Amino acid sequence: MPVDPSPTLLSDQAERMQLIDEDQKFNNAQFAPKLKQWGLDDAGFGYDLCAVLGSQSTGKSTLLNKLFGTSFDVMDEKQRRQTTKGIWMCRGIKMNVLVMDVEGTDGRERGEDQDFERKSALFSMASAECLIVNLWEHQVGLYQGANMGLLKTVFEVNLGLFQASKAKLNGPKDKTLLLFVIRDHVGTTPLENLQATLLADLNRIWDSLSKPEGLETSQITDFFDFMFTTLPHKILLPSEFDKAVDQLRERFINPKDPNFVFRPEYHKRIPADGLPHYLNSIWDQVMSNKDLDLPTQQELLAQFRCDEIANAAFSLFSADVKGFRKHIESGNVLETLGADMGRHRSVALAKFDKDASRYHQEVYKRKRIDLLEKLNGTLSPFFLGQLKNLHKVVLASFRANVLERMRGEVNYDFGEVVGTERSKAENRFAAAAKLVLLAETDWSIEEEEAQLSNEIQGIADVMRVEETKKMVAQIERNVKKGLAEPVELALAKPQPDMWDKILVAFRSVLENAEAIYLRKAKSFNCTEDENKAALAALRRKSWLSLRAKVDEQTADTVLAAKLRSCFEDRFRYDDEGVPRVWKPDDDIDGAFRTARDETLSLIPLYSRIAPKDEELLIRLPSSSDDPVQAAAVERGEEEEFDFPATLQLFTETRKAEIGSRFRKEADAYYVEAKRSTVSSIAQ
Ligand code: GDP
Ligand code: MG
Repeated sequence: MPVDPSPTLLSDQAERMQLIDEDQKFNNAQFAPKLKQWGLDDAGFGYDLCAVLGSQSTGKSTLLNKLFGTSFDVMDEKQRRQTTKGIWMCRGIKMNVLVMDVEGTDGRERGEDQDFERKSALFSMASAECLIVNLWEHQVGLYQGANMGLLKTVFEVNLGLFQASKAKLNGPKDKTLLLFVIRDHVGTTPLENLQATLLADLNRIWDSLSKPEGLETSQITDFFDFMFTTLPHKILLPSEFDKAVDQLRERFINPKDPNFVFRPEYHKRIPADGLPHYLNSIWDQVMSNKDLDLPTQQELLAQFRCDEIANAAFSLFSADVKGFRKHIESGNVLETLGADMGRHRSVALAKFDKDASRYHQEVYKRKRIDLLEKLNGTLSPFFLGQLKNLHKVVLASFRANVLERMRGEVNYDFGEVVGTERSKAENRFAAAAKLVLLAETDWSIEEEEAQLSNEIQGIADVMRVEETKKMVAQIERNVKKGLAEPVELALAKPQPDMWDKILVAFRSVLENAEAIYLRKAKSFNCTEDENKAALAALRRKSWLSLRAKVDEQTADTVLAAKLRSCFEDRFRYDDEGVPRVWKPDDDIDGAFRTARDETLSLIPLYSRIAPKDEELLIRLPSSSDDPVQAAAVERGEEEEFDFPATLQLFTETRKAEIGSRFRKEADAYYVEAKRSTVSSIAQ
């Protein structure tokens, strides 16, 4: 007789798969792809699982195919073809229901296959929310019958299953629904009677079980809920059978049905994507005949799946962020790095949360922390690299900006320039650094900020020293310029107060220079000590510059010209400045002597800086008296300075040399004067 599912269901019937094969091997390779093909891999908790128990050839597969539109093998009456042993799974049509069908041989009579039956029952129990117990009406009440033996097995494995975990679980126990479907119901015995008989049998079986420690007083209802229904004879009353099956289907698909079988409390809380691993590990446990500790299994599953989900999220994430490396390593500052890192991290976490949050909560939370740390660990080098690059860029532009402003602005205030550029640089760094400082990390930017601040200070210090030097050099040039004319004038017309004039000029030039220095130094934020040292150096250098000018003006030839001109003024011109024409009666000798001696007396005046008013001389400390200066000399930055020595312009020897050279020149003038009178006589 044909046992086709209804034609409407046939159209999009799902393809079944063999979950456990005839060699009792779990089909690990096929399960996950099959779930995907059935469109259930992403269902989370949004699926249900039911399984069936019952002796062979009681129409189990026929019923499942009718109810769910599955494609399980049905025994062909005509051929008596043997179905393939194992546990099969199929998706119900237009419903998120996974159905498991157990195929075995009719081995019970031969006592062969109770082992597989026990294993498959144990397996179904750990996964199914609802177990359909399929039996003929005439089997009801036959305590010795095959069914009761199977139920005994179910209860036993169930107790075994909870035995290990019972200690941990003081709360409500996981319950499973047993739905008894009584086949070929003739109708003479009402359902209530059949139900009462079955319940009595069930209790009897329960009482006869030797219960594990701690569960001695447990009731069957602590672990099971029961439902009962009947179906008419399929072959004798085909349309009644179909109608009854349609009604029965309502219990599986309509949550509003008072007899809805998939009540949430029966759900094993295994997300669909975790099923392959979970069922596989359950089957391994079943095979090794260990006690099934379901909570531990679920924790293990959670660990396994959370790791898998985290790894998947992480590998997408690391592919996404890989590109940052070469930018960071080549020294770039990525404007959107912070936002990009944050986004990629959120995407990875969201991916993880979506799938992993359905698993054991503590495991999930723990694994989430692990993942977050791993994500942060991957991003951290980018964060640090960006800070480093930013640091460099900010520092370079600080230096460039300061230099540019000093070049561009005529009367810049160094302190102000450095101050504003410094806070601009620090603000820029802080703002850009904050953009890459992600929340939920142990990252910080303070250390980098402090380091940047130090380096800016270092650059500013170097620049300040340079600037101060430049400024001092400028002032020194001004001093030199300011001294030139007064020195030249005074030395050209030697008078007893010649040095007084020069020193008065020196004092005013120096005072002016010091005032300029102090005014400018204010904006350099120079320290008190720096100012003291700079002013001392300025005085010293100004003094040396005066001395150099004097030396230039008293060099051999210059001085000789000066002496000659003094002598000429006296000897060759009269008191009114009119050139003399010597006559024989003139006292050439007397005039010559006076002019010569007066000129010679100028040499000591030139030979030493000696004002008449001693007060005019600013006595500068010599290197030997001034440790700061001595240190500068030590460093080779300055020449040894000996103030008293600078006052002396000529040595005694030089004085004598100058004197004798001048005498010779004067003698020549004398001879010339004499000759001129002789020639005038001769005419
Ligand atoms: P299973 O071994 O329990 O899966 O049983 P099958 O679904 O393979 O059916 C075994 C045989 O029983 C087949 O020849 C079916 O046609 C027949 N069959 C199916 N449903 C019924 C039913 O409700 N009543 C009767 N009497 N036979 C049925
Ligand atoms: Mg079958």
